[in-house]
Amino acid sequence: MCKHVLNAQFMLWTGSQWYDCVLCHAEANGGKPFVPSSRVMSLRCKRCEKVFRKDLSCFSSLDHKCPHCGHMLFFDAKFPSVRIVFLVKHHHGHHGQLV
Ligand SMILES: [Zn+2]
Ligand SMILES: [Zn+2]
Repeated sequence: MCKHVLNAQFMLWTGSQWYDCVLCHAEANGGKPFVPSSRVMSLRCKRCEKVFRKDLSCFSSLDHKCPHCGHMLFFDAKFPSVRIVFLVKHHHGHHGQLV
């Protein structure tokens, strides 16, 4: 449980460590924002602790559930899921262009 997302339902894999949210990652890395190496990210459900991969570029309401146990990962708006998608788009976009 992190201080940014009080009701975090999953962890995200940044390539070296699991974090509760992108802000935790930024704090642990001297303020550097999390830049996914690809649009497919590994997430880990906090209920069943199973890892699954998610393509954030085609994130739909169906993806709000853990594929293993059906646990709602985004059951309310406290988690900025939209912002993660935005960050992914932003970092893959070209600078100076609206994405
Ligand atoms: Zn956090
Ligand atoms: Zn699960």
